[in-house]
Amino acid sequence: MHARPKICNPLPLNMRIAQNRACMRGQPKIVTPASFRIAVLPGDGIGPEVIAEAVRVLRAVESRLPGVRFELEEFSVGAGEYLRSGDPMPPATFERCKQFDAILLGAMGLPGVRWPNGTEMAPQLDLRERLELYAGVRPIRLYHSAHTPLKKYGAGEIDLVIFRESTEGMFWSRLGKYPPDATEVCDTMRISRKASERLFRAAFREAGRRRGLVTLVDKSNVLPSMSFFRRIFDEIAEEFPQIRTERIYVDAASLYLVQRPHTFDVIVTENIFGDILSDLAAGLIGGMGMAPSADIGERYAVFQPSHGSAPDIAGQGIANPMAAILSAALMLEWLGLGDAAKMIRDAVEAVCERGSLTRDLGGSLTTEQCGELCCLS
Ligand code: ATP
Repeated sequence: MHARPKICNPLPLNMRIAQNRACMRGQPKIVTPASFRIAVLPGDGIGPEVIAEAVRVLRAVESRLPGVRFELEEFSVGAGEYLRSGDPMPPATFERCKQFDAILLGAMGLPGVRWPNGTEMAPQLDLRERLELYAGVRPIRLYHSAHTPLKKYGAGEIDLVIFRESTEGMFWSRLGKYPPDATEVCDTMRISRKASERLFRAAFREAGRRRGLVTLVDKSNVLPSMSFFRRIFDEIAEEFPQIRTERIYVDAASLYLVQRPHTFDVIVTENIFGDILSDLAAGLIGGMGMAPSADIGERYAVFQPSHGSAPDIAGQGIANPMAAILSAALMLEWLGLGDAAKMIRDAVEAVCERGSLTRDLGGSLTTEQCGELCCLS
């Protein structure tokens, strides 16, 4: 990170939406503050390991941006917190987090710590639902040809973003209970007009800043909820006549993502389809360690790597911190620090170009060494 970029305000995603809305209402433009308060929730498993490197990179960025300060405050949330206090997300912590400009999260949940119904602790899902973080934004970008199992793809040639609805869909049933002697259990896929409309609008706006194509992924040939989802998509598409659209079923989307990922720009889909497709898409660019994400609502936003707590590699210092570092870049972009976000992405690109890799990508760097290299690049 050699350059000292001037701070501008190229607000992305919902900040731009919020700004546009504020301007439409005749309110003054949002001014980029010099100090940003960030709640840091390292969580479980590899969460604390990768978040430590994201924080290291944020501090490096701060040292190169005169006038910008990141005030970071750490909170204990997740399966570890449940074992300590009996609640994976204590109410006081939740209320405090709402007072910050953004939330940076590691990973939550451990396979050995479960609710009585057998599911894992997932306070990140509570955050998405309670803060109405309706758009799960998951950029999928190939940083080096050696990272992909596909032939003939070079850096930047896979470059798409998945917009995953994050407050309802099939996950809506996740808090359901069933008696121990149940002989059948049903989960419901909830699709509401409100959540779908705002998700689609966010996806179309993003496509307008990218290559101008939105692909709807659904299962409208089988499920009534999905045909409703498609109908709303068609209505919103009419508001964006300059954006091209395509509609494909989720099974075909899995096939095409492997066969021709370069043809996708913005993919928009329901919650569980997005969950599954974003892991598949991460597999095209080197795995979960390369896949950042942002959960964005009208007012709040949470930034976390797409991966989980990865208990199989936790505590060994070998997790790839790039997904967490790139999530921090998404956070800076959302906070209006677009140039600072670019600094981080360029640093990641430089480290990848040099072939300096963690074990998941065939290298031998530790988590910490990888984070340090991102600071120096
Ligand atoms: P969840 O359901 O909680 O999101 P998951 O089922 O997607 O989790 P992960 O915890 O993301 O599972 O891990 C999936 C695989 O990817 C595991 O083999 C794990 O070791 C690997 N993995 C995940 N994150 C990283 C990382 N940052 N670096 C290296 N490998 C990782």
